[in-house]
Amino acid sequence: DFQKIALDQIKASFKQKDVCLLHGVTSSGKTELYIKLIEEQLSKGKQVLYLLPEIALTTQIIKRLQKHFGNKVGITHSHLNNSERVEIWKAVQEQDSGQVQYPVMLGARSALFLPFDNLGLIIVDEEHDSSFKQHQSSPRYHARDGAIYLAHLHQSKVVLGSATPSVESYYNAKKDKYGLVEMHSRFEGIALPKIQTIDIRKAHLKKQMTYQFAPKMLSAIEKTLKLGKQVILFQNRRGYSPVLSCETCAYTPNCTQCDVSLTYHKWNNQLKCHYCGYNEQLPKICPSCSALDFSDKGFGTEQIEESLKVLFPGHLSKRMDYDTTRGKHAHQKLITDFEHGRIAILVGTQMVTKGLDFDNVALVGILDADSMLHFPDFRSYERAFQLMMQVAGRAGRKGEQGQVLIQTYDEEHEIFKLLKKHDFSTFIKRQAQERKLFNYPPYNRLIGITLKHKNQRKLDETAQQLVVMMRKSFGNRVLGPEYPAISRIRNYYHKNILLKIEQKGSIASAKTILNTIIDNIQHHSDYKAVRFIIDVDPV
Ligand SMILES: [Zn+2]
Ligand SMILES: [Zn+2]
Repeated sequence: DFQKIALDQIKASFKQKDVCLLHGVTSSGKTELYIKLIEEQLSKGKQVLYLLPEIALTTQIIKRLQKHFGNKVGITHSHLNNSERVEIWKAVQEQDSGQVQYPVMLGARSALFLPFDNLGLIIVDEEHDSSFKQHQSSPRYHARDGAIYLAHLHQSKVVLGSATPSVESYYNAKKDKYGLVEMHSRFEGIALPKIQTIDIRKAHLKKQMTYQFAPKMLSAIEKTLKLGKQVILFQNRRGYSPVLSCETCAYTPNCTQCDVSLTYHKWNNQLKCHYCGYNEQLPKICPSCSALDFSDKGFGTEQIEESLKVLFPGHLSKRMDYDTTRGKHAHQKLITDFEHGRIAILVGTQMVTKGLDFDNVALVGILDADSMLHFPDFRSYERAFQLMMQVAGRAGRKGEQGQVLIQTYDEEHEIFKLLKKHDFSTFIKRQAQERKLFNYPPYNRLIGITLKHKNQRKLDETAQQLVVMMRKSFGNRVLGPEYPAISRIRNYYHKNILLKIEQKGSIASAKTILNTIIDNIQHHSDYKAVRFIIDVDPV
């Protein structure tokens, strides 16, 4: 069968290369392959590191591995206390008996830094996931790249697994730097879901929308529930509505510390900033003109959940997003309740796309696909495609083809044509061509520099000064300075500069030159208080 073939292909590729990209469609049984590969390492007395993008969201995979390997599996995550950390630290090292307590270690990106003695294999599962990149603080490393380097130190192997590989990894595989093994079928002959789009421009014009749902979406949900099947609805915005504005004067409540509008959360009647956490009560009258009516534009998960309660009162709908999963076991409980059929409709943000396999989901609805496409980032199409493909993969199990419905204003968009055909390869090829044309990764490397200061004029001056100095060394490889989409967060203004370095150029010497320039600027008394954040290979 194809799994056996894939396993043999991985082993064959390891004879020549250290890294193998495993591209297998959703439900192709990648976890089964990982288990076989882990078994083999254990029989050789080697250790395995299994990296996941977010440990909290992947309880299903953890259970499967524990079922198979029992107490040989250790888990590490950022919520361990100090003594638990010490335990984990010791548990990957050889004891006096020569034994290792946890030869299989599961963890998110920081698990890379455990003191492994004898690593044979690193599995990077969902390798496309941007959570592998440390964005928040220095060192801003990418765990996928870190894993490859760590494996190199141990002379061990790496499997990068995904149903929707990153352009970077796919490029490296096509260039023969990595091995490439592909599985295009789902296990046990399960069909890939049928993906269709719904034109909501028409539905809006004809006034056919019921709350956030086009007629076709609504009837599909009804039909699914009638058959006793379950529904997943995906909306990548939490809260009730992202923008509120006054009907009379168009006043929009904004955060006092950031340049963003506040998101309305209906359950506690608060306006909240998703960037800094600032919140305030919804004003009863417009602070600008004293009118009484606020109207909302756009919708988030909370609003959908509310509509579902009205539309399908006989079926339990629940919401899975940042707001409903903050409690310790809240996420696990939602999953268990959905697994056992106690919840009929699960509405969620991208959390519902991650590491979940349910047997009874017949319909997946994507309610606002367009919001993902219109993002000022060269990776936005890649992300949108990955997200939609991942969430689509939750539909359909044994003996039944799942259905995926996507609401959009832009049915003709190329991305939907390829999605409907499950044609990831063409998509990624075109993305790669575009990246090449505009000198983006993987054809170039990027260094992002962000400057922050409370005083906008000072920030502008410093950024300008920096760019002038950088251009002397790097010429037109320097882009910016530019304000990001959200130019002020927590009262700090931000400005970005991007440096593009050709693949054949030396990133090391670019870093040295850049450091010298920034050092010079920082020693200048006028610019001392400006903060510099440098991110090599930003994601
Ligand atoms: Zn007003
Ligand atoms: Zn804010």
